[in-house]
Amino acid sequence: MRVHNFGAGPCTLPFEVLAEAEKELLDYRGAGMSLVEMSHRSVEYDAVHRDTLDLLRRVAGVPAAFDILFVQGGATLQFAMVPMNLLAGGGSAGFVLSGSWAKKALDDAALVGDAYAAWDGAGSAYTTFPASGEVVVRENTRYLHVTTNETIGGIRMVDFPDVGVPLVADMSSEYLARPIEWDRYDLVYGGVQKNLAPSGLAVVFVRSTALDDSTERLPAYLRYRWHADSASLGNTPAMFPIYIMGKVLEVIEDRGGIEALERESADKAAAVYEVIDTSGGFYLSPVAPAVRSHMNVVFRLPSQDLETAFLAEARRRRMVGLKGHRSVGGIRASLYAACRMESVEALTSFMREFAASAG
Ligand code: PMP
Repeated sequence: MRVHNFGAGPCTLPFEVLAEAEKELLDYRGAGMSLVEMSHRSVEYDAVHRDTLDLLRRVAGVPAAFDILFVQGGATLQFAMVPMNLLAGGGSAGFVLSGSWAKKALDDAALVGDAYAAWDGAGSAYTTFPASGEVVVRENTRYLHVTTNETIGGIRMVDFPDVGVPLVADMSSEYLARPIEWDRYDLVYGGVQKNLAPSGLAVVFVRSTALDDSTERLPAYLRYRWHADSASLGNTPAMFPIYIMGKVLEVIEDRGGIEALERESADKAAAVYEVIDTSGGFYLSPVAPAVRSHMNVVFRLPSQDLETAFLAEARRRRMVGLKGHRSVGGIRASLYAACRMESVEALTSFMREFAASAG
């Protein structure tokens, strides 16, 4: 029996995808071996690779002006690759410092280029995003980097700053669960291990013209142009996550695409926030309602002992992955794309019961 998995990533994947992959793992469509035992130059893998690129383009509505790249190294490598490539022609990068992930992105960018905080949420303990007008970019800013969903803080960007420069977004923890306003961006990236696939891969959408200044002085793998020119087949790609992502994208498309995922995500999150807000203060969300994440619902109980008891009892009921990030503690329920409403219902009824018995 499978558990209710609220892990923050890697996390639950659609059951039908796992079942199909299990079947194909010993014999991929009569080949007598799995897809991941084949050459990445094989006809079979090539078809999967290109179909997955096509599906991504269709499901995410990616305009022709953007290249789609598969890069290993997770979202973390993108913290450095983005400035290496986009600042190659000069200029600096502004950052909306909205939490732990934005900070890591800024720290790495500052090692390879001129990067600065255009807004810093420290004053509100990183529980909000800036209001319009609060983001201040310096002259000669090439792009503004935003983290649209802070996975640890549990906040979601609602108003995207309009400061006259293109945006670059880390969408890792809400990837393809929310439409992307392509006109605003030069680049969008994210690790796939939450909504889309097993870990080992980042998907990068980059406006082709943003690479006009790209430099030949970067090592091949760090050069976006190299990935774009080879359709991400310049070297051996992360075949397993790409293969599984193709199947997950089919499920997303069947379920109604990104818009449907966004609605479902909002409903799932609303169900958990409702229990928090009607618990008479037993559960507390540190996040202002307007910017509460649809993906990562963070909350506290009245004491650490109660949180420990909550996690133990949840586990006994086959609900796992609820422990808050080690840097902040508390509880975090991640409600990614493959987390079904029945899991959310199991969680909310447990939360009500637990509050009634302990509160
Ligand atoms: N950005 C965000 C918003 C994340 O949630 C994470 C991982 N949880 C990362 C970046 C880093 O991703 P990776 O582990 O793929 O490097």
